[in-house]
Amino acid sequence: MIPKDHPRYRSLVARERIARCAREGIVAPEGLAAHGRGEAFDYLIGEKTIESAALAARTAAAMLLSARHAVISVNGNTAALAAAEIAALQRASGADVEVNLFHRTEERIERINRLLTEHGARVLTGTPERIVPLSHDRALSLPEGIGDADVVLVPLEDGDRCAALREMGKAVITIDLNPLSRTSRTATLTIVDEVTRALPAITAACASLEPGEAERLIASLDNTYLLRAAIDEMRERLAHALE
Ligand code: ATP
Repeated sequence: MIPKDHPRYRSLVARERIARCAREGIVAPEGLAAHGRGEAFDYLIGEKTIESAALAARTAAAMLLSARHAVISVNGNTAALAAAEIAALQRASGADVEVNLFHRTEERIERINRLLTEHGARVLTGTPERIVPLSHDRALSLPEGIGDADVVLVPLEDGDRCAALREMGKAVITIDLNPLSRTSRTATLTIVDEVTRALPAITAACASLEPGEAERLIASLDNTYLLRAAIDEMRERLAHALE
């Protein structure tokens, strides 16, 4: 049992959860390494939502609500850390939820579907096809899901898939603590924040956008500015780390 007053409580709870999900076959062992990379960057932004990420989350809400067909693509790490948050965002945005895995087995897909469903998400099912131009199994998508979407939210993605979705003409929103990653730089919109903070921020924004705000946010979207602001925040914190 992790004591609630431990200074690293949230991070330790996340570790415990992701380790348990790895033992249960929901998270691939490689997912643990990806989580560690995320943690390191979270340390550098002070484990809090920075101002530019709050703006990015609001813009993400605007994009999801303005989409013809929005889909949230969920992998093992996202399901392990944020199944309830995915369900809440689905309710607020009306987006479809589809599971897509790098280390894909039918058994893992099944386990992740079950976890998401238990937390209240409605997960798309059907027969996947090799729709996304990638040589591995992440190409497999549902024609009526990601195949048809104009806006896709891909938390904790990798660069190849993000680029392939962009090449298909889709707007891609990602949540990635690393502002230097290929995903962050390729996405239409990057929220540099931890997934369990970013998803509730998007959900809250879905319910609080003012009339006309969505159009304004989308028109002024500048992903390079958002990434630069995150890097500046890290640089600033490093410069004053020992004061
Ligand atoms: P790329 O291919 O885009 O350069 P990568 O090879 O680092 O990135 P992955 O190994 O798939 O891609 O890692 C996924 C990304 O998710 C990492 O950049 C990591 O910083 C980020 N990440 C991991 N855990 C979290 C989390 N809990 N919240 C937000 N981002 C996270």
